[in-house]
This record gives sequence, structure tokens and C-alpha cells, in this order.
Amino acid sequence: MRTLSGAAILCVATRVWPVSTPTGKIKADATSVLIIVDVQRCFMAGGTLAVPHGEDVVPVINKIAAAFENVVMTQDWHPAGHVSFASSHPGRKPFETIKLGYGKQVLWPDHCVQGTPDAALDKDLHIPQTELIVRKGFHRDVDSYSAFEEADRKTPTGLQGYLKERGIERVFVSGLATDFCVAWTALDARKAAFETYVIEDACRGIDLNGSVAAAWSEMEKRGVKRIQSTDIELGSAQI
Ligand SMILES: [Zn+2]
Repeated sequence: MRTLSGAAILCVATRVWPVSTPTGKIKADATSVLIIVDVQRCFMAGGTLAVPHGEDVVPVINKIAAAFENVVMTQDWHPAGHVSFASSHPGRKPFETIKLGYGKQVLWPDHCVQGTPDAALDKDLHIPQTELIVRKGFHRDVDSYSAFEEADRKTPTGLQGYLKERGIERVFVSGLATDFCVAWTALDARKAAFETYVIEDACRGIDLNGSVAAAWSEMEKRGVKRIQSTDIELGSAQI
């Protein structure tokens, strides 16, 4: 047992990337996917739920996406009158928290309403190899931060099955917002036994009462690896 625990400590102490190059950078391979979470107009400056500096993720994501042959995007996609909108709860204001049947829910301004320009993917994203766009939050009475599972924690989006069938083993998460949809996606990716990385400078947070720090703490506790875009080897995704 001593050997086993010694090995475990060595693993924690040594930065070993899944597929590392002579430069020590991470090389995305055919079993890696880049998930781009909610890079939509509504979360950019001028949108209905702007994340501070949300637009800054776009050039970073465009750059790193070139290293991935597998790219999946998510798109927040709510019907009018969605349960996560403060306007659906008389007397309530955006950013208050209420208790719903499935647990705590932060109330948001109306955002990402299906079919509106506000819900569109950001026009400056240029990632033609994107193979799947997962829309989420389309059930009126359930929110969905995670790309994998809705907020009731029992309704799957289907993404886990898709990635498993495609032989994906490593998930790299980018997008908006660090402390909500990015974190929930990364935590669910770990729960589904994917090796999981969050690319910090390819994300921005909303930060309600310290929620960014809390999200990083929880992600690191669950084994999500925190990396920067410069840790990824750019170039062909083929190995
Ligand atoms: Zn939403």
C-alpha cells in the first residue's frame, strides 16, 4: 500500500499531460474534444446577460480550436417565460436566488430566447470543423448550465453518449461563464470519467459573491485540471 500511495503522490506532484510534446505542451489527439460553452451574443457586451469581458474569449478560442479536430459547442436556448428568468416570478429580481423543485436557482434577466438574434452564436467565432452544437435549457421548467445534464440532475442532454460513442476520452472546456456553465460542464465531464481540462484564459466569469473562486475550488477538488491556452500545442490536430 505504501508503494501505491507513493505513486499517487508522485502523480499529483508531476505535471504529466495526456499527450505531451517535446516542448512539454499538450497535444490534442483524436480522442480529445474542445467544448465551447455558450459563446453567444447574449453573454457579450450589449447582450441581455453580458459576462464582464466575455468577448475577450473569442480570439483565444479561435486560436486554440485549430489544434482540435473535434469541436462541440453549446448554445443556451430558452423558450420565452423560462423558469430561470426573474420575469417569470412576480416580485423577484435578476440575480436573486429562489428554491425550485430541483433545488436552488439563480434568477437571470431574460436571455438567449430561442430564435432571437441575442441567442445567436457570436459572429466572430470561426471554427468550421465544429461537429455538434448542443442546445440546452429548452425545457421551460428546468434550467441547464451543464452541457451534459440539466439542472434537475437527472435529465441528460445526450452529450455524454455522443462523446463516448465517438471514443472521446479527454475534454477541454472553454467559454462562458467560468462559474456557471463552464464549471458545471467540467464537473459533469469528470463525473462521466473524462479526463477534464478547463482553459482558464479561454473563459470569463460572472462572479456573484465569490462564485468564480468557489467554482475553481470545487473543480480542482474533483480533479479538473486548470490550464492556460499557451499550454496547448497549436498546429495540426493529427498525430
Ligand atoms: Zn440561460
